[in-house]
Amino acid sequence: MSGSEILESVVPRSIIIGKSTIHRIPDVIQSLGLKQKIMILTGPHTRFVVGEDIFNVLTNQGMNCEIVIVENASLEAAKSYVDLVEQYKPNVIIGAGGGKNIDVCKYCLNQISRKLEMISVPTTTSHDGLASPFIFLNDPTEKYIGECRPPIAVIADVEKILSHPDLIRFIAAGVGDTVGKITAIWDWRHAWRIKSEKFSRFVGGVLENAETLFQSQVSEALIDPEHAVQVVLKALLIAGVLMGTSNDIRVGYGSEHMFSAALAAQTPNADILHGERVALGAIMMAKLQGQNHRKIVNILKNVGCPTNVEDLNDKILPEAIVTALHTAHKTNSMYTVLGHSGLTKDAALNIAQITGVISELHK
Ligand SMILES: [Zn+2]
Repeated sequence: MSGSEILESVVPRSIIIGKSTIHRIPDVIQSLGLKQKIMILTGPHTRFVVGEDIFNVLTNQGMNCEIVIVENASLEAAKSYVDLVEQYKPNVIIGAGGGKNIDVCKYCLNQISRKLEMISVPTTTSHDGLASPFIFLNDPTEKYIGECRPPIAVIADVEKILSHPDLIRFIAAGVGDTVGKITAIWDWRHAWRIKSEKFSRFVGGVLENAETLFQSQVSEALIDPEHAVQVVLKALLIAGVLMGTSNDIRVGYGSEHMFSAALAAQTPNADILHGERVALGAIMMAKLQGQNHRKIVNILKNVGCPTNVEDLNDKILPEAIVTALHTAHKTNSMYTVLGHSGLTKDAALNIAQITGVISELHK
């Protein structure tokens, strides 16, 4: 950036990670000077984990509050939640739960022009959308919809996250999403070199350092799930905040996420988490980029994140991996290692086999 350019960053004003932090929400709302008419958007399961607790904490403080259950994160459904928010006219919306609820909240923020702030209360560590300004809908195909102001506050209650019945799998998926930054930054720098796209060396450098630190901490952290949740949460938050700082989705989104979206389109009903798909994408894209893909495989194996189709208990066929690789470049117009025309089917099969993501195709 030259001296005359203006960099405008919008980042969360309050980030709280710790135990019983849900009880801090009324204080946060007051200290940020927000009006006390609040709507909580939470999921059918997460309402019992955090949604109703937040409702009780707020109403006990005399704040006006309403709960909406987000059943679906399709674009159509998200529009209906915007209507509900418009009817109630809150000053604050709280996205309480997994990525789906938080993304629907961000969509409401994007669509509603009057003053409205969002608080993010994540219940898992499996995605980096909890603090970023970018919106993805149509779960699980994750279509990029646009951006909004990032949440004014992120409040992560470690106790609630630790109570997740599938905690270790979700921590591992968070690591999967985080290693995706290694390939995303490579793609970003590549687009700068080949297509003169704007690249922030500062943000790229900070993220690379954060990645190194994260990798050294994560395996020892896994011995203690509470520490692991804190380490993975911080890594995801740093990525989300850096996306807001640079106002560029490329900080956390490259060819590995394009593969993830393509695979989700191939296998919409398979029980695979976003971070698990990104992990497979990161292994194969790192190989294509000439990076050390084995390093990524080792990090993932250490935390128990799937590195091949067998690890996913054959929830998807090897053919789906090859087709997703072959079509990944169509999911987003951004320039990456996949180029404009993507991989041929033979090249896709080759990369999937060389990296051990698949062993052989079903005959
Ligand atoms: Zn992601």
